[in-house]
Amino acid sequence: MKPGPGQLSSAASIQIEKVRDDLYLLRGGGRTVQLGGVSLSSAGTTAAFVTTGGVVLVDAKLPGWGKAIMDKLEEITGKPLTTVINTHAHFDHVGGNVEFPEGVEIVAHENTAELMRDMRPVTGGPVQPDIFKQSKGRGLPTRTFKDRMVLGSGEERIELYYFGRAHTGGDAWVVFPALRVLHAGDIFAHKAVPPLDANNGASGVEYPQTIAKALAALRDIDTVITGHYPTTLTMVDLKTYGDFVCEFVQAVQTAKRSGRTIEEFVSSWKLPERFVMEGYVDIGNLRPLRPDVEVIWNETR
Ligand SMILES: [Zn+2]
Repeated sequence: MKPGPGQLSSAASIQIEKVRDDLYLLRGGGRTVQLGGVSLSSAGTTAAFVTTGGVVLVDAKLPGWGKAIMDKLEEITGKPLTTVINTHAHFDHVGGNVEFPEGVEIVAHENTAELMRDMRPVTGGPVQPDIFKQSKGRGLPTRTFKDRMVLGSGEERIELYYFGRAHTGGDAWVVFPALRVLHAGDIFAHKAVPPLDANNGASGVEYPQTIAKALAALRDIDTVITGHYPTTLTMVDLKTYGDFVCEFVQAVQTAKRSGRTIEEFVSSWKLPERFVMEGYVDIGNLRPLRPDVEVIWNETR
């Protein structure tokens, strides 16, 4: 997703989708791109969980959208924003952080906290705006976790997990157990080849294993929130996505080991028909495929 002037930020450009009684999605904010008939927002999907103590957000959209998120929250609840969980370090998921009030707890995986300090360029993609240096550190994580963390208790319990490298090197899985909902962030961004941001720790080879670990560990989930897909999905969809990434990685590895070139692979690779039937789309209409192929290629012996 490219940064750009885009549309002016406003609460009116954000749409609320109720997922459960106390869990809402804030969609939109930023440009909308069409990909194979699917409308994708350039801003990551924000979730808002209303607890007795205040609002817990998952992800914070693009730089300049923090105020619009706060304004939109007022349509949902009069409770204050207390906590923000960032699924990973990309600017379309952490951008609003710098505008949130002092004292809001910011939670992320320890690798993501480190990456947010740097905001390195995305592999094959845009240079990330250096928002946290500009804010003098405001909006950076105040609390980190390594493998697992629990926030809140009872019906309001939130579980954070790290199952290894995938889209970046610090992707958090956020579970609302009582609601049977998972926010997968950009580990599951949309039904297409995943952006592999090796510059921020991604691994194509480890990606399917990371999804497999999540599928094995996370039980009793009915609803999966993705990074950018326009509707919620299910664990069956996540399983299919894991299969898709696995087949893609294997296709790249087979090409390399059989002496073909990256160019040959990129120009000849086609979406497998069974995934087209599942609504998978050609990422080449949005960004070049080659950088993702290169990441897997470089990981392959
Ligand atoms: Zn991302």
